[in-house]
Amino acid sequence: MPIRIVRQDITKMKADAIVNAANSSLLGGGGVDGAIHAAAGPELLAECRTLGGCKTGEAKITRGYRLPCKFVIHTVGPVWQGGKNGERSQLRSCYINSLALARKAGCETVAFPLISSGVYGYPKAEALSVAVDSAREFLDSDDSDMTVYIVIFDKAAYRIGEKLFKDIEEYIDDRYAEWHVNARSEMLRMPMAAENIHEADFTVCSPMPTKSFDKSSLTDAVSKLDESFSEMLLRKIDERGISDSQCYKKANIDRKLFSKIRSDKNYRPSKPTAIAFAVALELPLSETREMLEKAGFALSHSSKFDIIIEYFIEHGNYNIFEINEALFAFDQSLLGA
Ligand code: ADP
Repeated sequence: MPIRIVRQDITKMKADAIVNAANSSLLGGGGVDGAIHAAAGPELLAECRTLGGCKTGEAKITRGYRLPCKFVIHTVGPVWQGGKNGERSQLRSCYINSLALARKAGCETVAFPLISSGVYGYPKAEALSVAVDSAREFLDSDDSDMTVYIVIFDKAAYRIGEKLFKDIEEYIDDRYAEWHVNARSEMLRMPMAAENIHEADFTVCSPMPTKSFDKSSLTDAVSKLDESFSEMLLRKIDERGISDSQCYKKANIDRKLFSKIRSDKNYRPSKPTAIAFAVALELPLSETREMLEKAGFALSHSSKFDIIIEYFIEHGNYNIFEINEALFAFDQSLLGA
């Protein structure tokens, strides 16, 4: 059910199926197509010859031969012609039709390259957003527990929107600097010889999470002190009036992990998982911090990951896929299980 963005060579993916960005002849080509045929061996080409080609937006399935996957799904992406010639809907069809074939073949894990974003010229950031939106659309209408991997190969050419990237970069710069300056002035107030203070002293420790209770909420806070992460999560789901599945889908967490958390009051999630739930529940920053504390974590200004999360929460953007795209662009680990 979840979507994962990973950086990998798709021919190394141990998924049930990998998807090939093929051309309409299905007889091999350059780019990812060439890499897949080279790794699969000549038997793949032999089977492709029997398929009679493939139209743009459609998909055909073969075995994986020497690849570590069971199947290869061949789909033909649109050539980018400026975006006004139905490219987006054709690209969406590639994902939807490939996933339908994968489901029919009983696949639980499917890995896609960024179709059309190489020789066919589709702008990478847009190609990624079509990939994520289409996979999401398919998975939302599907009862299976399929996991979709979007495999990004060449980071250099890929970037989230330039403006968003710059905004986040500035936000990180401001907060990072702020934390370093504060830490330094804090240290200088301590009875310690200034010459013994090294830059390294300021980067290893985390600042204490800031927390302020007003009197009226103190009683409430004390009564919730013993609440575990799992209990807080379930309470928040109830308060939001959403279903469990709406919550874990929005958090990009698979059902099995959610069931584990639900049934174990003392379950300790990883930090990205805990944040994913806070994002799914659209918690403001103070409650996000509270939820993280229940799992033994904090948000600090000494970590880019934390600052990026803070950026999105402060801007009221709780779209986990956009957050993950930004985290990916800044080389950080992604949210979700
Ligand atoms: P298209 O013709 O559909 O544009 P390409 O093969 O030229 O197909 O490129 C599609 C995407 O696949 C590009 O983003 C390219 O960087 C990426 N790619 C190329 N080789 C690999 C690989 N081995 N694994 C994953 N992605 C790859």
